[in-house]
Amino acid sequence: MTAPAQLLIDGKLAAASGGATYPIVTPATEEVIGAAPAATAGDVGAAVAAARRAFDETAWSTDVGFRIECLRQLHRALVDHGPAMRALTTAEAGAPARLTTGPQYDLPVESLAWVTDLAAGYEWERELGPAAPMGIPTTRHVHREAVGVVAAITPWNFPNQINLAKIGPALAAGNTVVLKPAPDTPWIAAELGRLAAEHTDLPAGVFNVITSPEHVAGAMLTSDPRVDLVSFTGSTATGRAVMASAAGTLKRVFLELGGKSAAVVLDDGDLGAGAGLAAYSVCVHAGQGCALTTRLIVPRARYDEAVAVAARTMQHIKVGDPTDPATVCGPLINSVQRDRVEGYLALARAEGGRFAVGGTRPDFDRGFWAAPTVVAGLDNDARTSREEIFGPVLVVLAHDGDDDAVRIANDSPYGLSGAVTSADPERARAVAKRIRTGTLSVNGGVWFAPDAPFGGYKQSGLGREMGVAGLEEYLETKLIAEAAR
Ligand code: NAD
Repeated sequence: MTAPAQLLIDGKLAAASGGATYPIVTPATEEVIGAAPAATAGDVGAAVAAARRAFDETAWSTDVGFRIECLRQLHRALVDHGPAMRALTTAEAGAPARLTTGPQYDLPVESLAWVTDLAAGYEWERELGPAAPMGIPTTRHVHREAVGVVAAITPWNFPNQINLAKIGPALAAGNTVVLKPAPDTPWIAAELGRLAAEHTDLPAGVFNVITSPEHVAGAMLTSDPRVDLVSFTGSTATGRAVMASAAGTLKRVFLELGGKSAAVVLDDGDLGAGAGLAAYSVCVHAGQGCALTTRLIVPRARYDEAVAVAARTMQHIKVGDPTDPATVCGPLINSVQRDRVEGYLALARAEGGRFAVGGTRPDFDRGFWAAPTVVAGLDNDARTSREEIFGPVLVVLAHDGDDDAVRIANDSPYGLSGAVTSADPERARAVAKRIRTGTLSVNGGVWFAPDAPFGGYKQSGLGREMGVAGLEEYLETKLIAEAAR
């Protein structure tokens, strides 16, 4: 069973200091399933103060062995509480149950184990070769050490993945953390806090969780001089605000932002695989994924065929109750998101697009829904083709050969992910190398894994999460030079 949501500040699970809570709504039915603490400004300040104290006054940042032990305890607790956490993820985020044994829960938990092992074997100190800079024989050591207090600010779409991909490496690196989840998914973060408090030896203040219905809790963290690094995942617009706010105290920012990724099918490519996969993946979790390929770019001569394949694929996708193991496309997170998606569907129509399938609201009594939709007839200049919708909407565009496909794929403010399909792997790889994005799939390859760095080019972000790079985002580099005797 899941305990009521509480804040975690300085090692103590507690209500908000003002006693206020706000309702947690399950997006599939709009029922209130719980209440989360509405942290006050004082609570946010107390969490930062606790994290600062734990960093400055305890051995946390220097005792690697103890850190590894604590993270292994946390991993064990997350595995043991898997059934309850998976159910909570489906209830709170509307994540289809079938995803919780993959990227919505089990994979992120596996990633925590992976980064813990990485830290256990990491070269925290290494000697540079002998040298005599300016004629002085010197022994030089490069030390990698924690940055300090990390503010982790996360969105609602893949809450376990993003919470753990931040706090795992941040803590493994020796930082202390204040986690601020999205207003819609406070409980998953609060449960993580509870498991850390009740099942690990993490010292007070090393890990703190703040929940709030107001974005201002996040904004407070980004300008607080006691915070050294902001690790943020969310929209590009908010990422800009975070960067601007962090500039005041010149703190480090690590940003994972939006996307409008392209799935390119070359003229020799299998449309069933390329177009079918793009149509399927854009429906997973109702299209609420930053790295989904939401633009399908196909040879002009095969455009109608590609639209038909995409539409047919979507017609077979199960939309509905996220607890049903057959469901692929669950609800949108809230009414704001539903209105946003419907606004884009109206825009697509106004821009001259036509719906090969979808374009409507599914006929459910309650909850926030959008039907899987294929938009045809637009070019890449349309706003529908350029802006992130964050719903189950695929735009199909035509290309006139490999160069044109690369041009269209790159003609985007974003650069998060993408895919290339071709019968000729070498040709597919050549196209993949020319697309300016952080991850790419060639002929159905899967880039998402604990050891694989993930992140964006251009306005999709700064830095990399997961993999070795994902640990090193949370490290400083210090060189100590000692005169050799
Ligand atoms: P959002 O930007 O609205 O909010 C993200 C987080 O930032 C929330 O916790 C929110 O409370 C907080 N926040 C809002 N305003 C803030 C401010 N001024 N200062 C500090 N914090 C603030 O995003 P969302 O709607 O929760 O999530 C959807 C977006 O996230 C999409 O654009 C999606 O592409 C992006 N996303 C990116 C990745 C990635 O890894 N690149 C992963 C998942 C989601």
